[in-house]
Amino acid sequence: MSKLELLPINIAGEWRLGAGDESHSLYPATGEVVGRLRAPSLADVDEAIRKADQAFRHSGWAQKKPHERAAVLQRVAQLIRERAEPLAQLQRLDNGKPISETRALVASAAGTFQFFAAACETMEETLTPPRGDCMTMSVYEPMGVVAAITPWNSPIASEAQKMAPALAAGNAVVVKPAEATPLLALELARICEQAGVPKGIISVLPGRGSVIGDAITQHPLVKRVSFTGGTSTGKHIARIAADKMMPVSLELGGKSATMVLEDADLDHAVNGVLYGIFSSSGESCIAGSRLFVARKLYGDFMERLTAKAAALRVGDPADERTQMGPLISAKHRESIESYVQLGLSEGGQLRTGGQRPEGALYEHGYYYRPTILEGLKNQDQICQQEIFGPVLVAMPFDDEAALLEQANDSVYALAAGIWTRDYKAAWRIGRAVQAGTVWINTYKQFSISTPFGGWRDSGLGREKGRLGIQQYMEQKSLYWGL
Ligand code: NAD
Repeated sequence: MSKLELLPINIAGEWRLGAGDESHSLYPATGEVVGRLRAPSLADVDEAIRKADQAFRHSGWAQKKPHERAAVLQRVAQLIRERAEPLAQLQRLDNGKPISETRALVASAAGTFQFFAAACETMEETLTPPRGDCMTMSVYEPMGVVAAITPWNSPIASEAQKMAPALAAGNAVVVKPAEATPLLALELARICEQAGVPKGIISVLPGRGSVIGDAITQHPLVKRVSFTGGTSTGKHIARIAADKMMPVSLELGGKSATMVLEDADLDHAVNGVLYGIFSSSGESCIAGSRLFVARKLYGDFMERLTAKAAALRVGDPADERTQMGPLISAKHRESIESYVQLGLSEGGQLRTGGQRPEGALYEHGYYYRPTILEGLKNQDQICQQEIFGPVLVAMPFDDEAALLEQANDSVYALAAGIWTRDYKAAWRIGRAVQAGTVWINTYKQFSISTPFGGWRDSGLGREKGRLGIQQYMEQKSLYWGL
């Protein structure tokens, strides 16, 4: 048993041990315990939400002028930047991403708070054209207690994307981080408190989704849920929301197509496709996991891609040179292994990977080799189901019509990538492919000012962008008789 002390959780600004089950955060590279805490009990959850509702009504946060809330959020951004390195190291321990990636996620969290500080000050409350005998104005009001439910793959960035706009809008926020990665959400809550967010406005309630997440979603005082996670969980939350007539935003799974056209810059495309699937060990909703390559290029392209995938440096997340770290857990690795078996049983052949790396470094961590399968059809299960790991399925295509038909043949529609020098083809395919985000000659690039979200089973609603704040507000129209 680890000697680490139990960490307090945040129940409406009170830092104390939860009264629920004990859970451990494991470092995926070694399996060591890096955090111990006790989840909240259902009574703790109820207490946190009731106190959050009181804080929303009485702490003065909702009544602050936008520039006053903006100043607090600017301080959050500044404190994140001042503590960037310890936060990045903590995130490496919590979820096993290489340090180069966790640094980028911490920087993005700071940028998110800064962006929504500005968005809060520049929200447009519009005067609509007068009718002659009355004047009307559209304004936005905060909702009350809103919930942010996040997955384990990008902690701190996921939480920041929900907390920053929800706080900017004047709400109280109850955060439910993934059971495997609670540490960064707790740190972020401490930073918000130090920056001046009033007590009670933030709670962090880690624990099992089916217990704690469900209790939060069902609670009558929770007025909105912003969820990022798997599609089946998202649908479950949407059903509860329908009964409560509660708005939700759902950022869900993906099975994104990357398309390499005949005239693509080969080196650029190979590197982009490689990064699109294997960065973050493929544990990314936008991972480019289905690859379509023009048949004429297929042989040459796959040779280069396979050689580079096999040479990726898989290893210690603390090493600056590491390109791919371990997977989040032993259980998740088993799930990925069973998907690879499924692909093989459907007639797929391995180009590379399909096994755990060998050697002392990998003995205790949840490592898996970058894996590429081919010889499959887009209708096969392995091409339709989200694997959420470092597994790419490659297929040749013959013409644009066939390419689009296959790329769009998926229940998911989160992202897509196009590699070509032909800007007209990029425009045509970019418009015809069904996805919330399409990258052209790049992949996995983000701007906080650009809305992000999915179509179909990939989700409902959009995060980021100037309008991201509005999903945490209710709109109201005021009429003045003249
Ligand atoms: P998950 O759905 O299992 O869990 C996500 C969060 O929901 C966790 O905090 C979990 O505890 C909670 N949860 C689980 N059951 C719940 C319930 N019944 N009620 C309320 N909350 C519940 O997903 P995961 O395995 O943590 O994450 C992987 C999934 O997330 C993948 O499908 C991935 O594509 C998706 N994802 C999507 C985006 C996006 O922006 N679209 C980003 C990252 C991850």
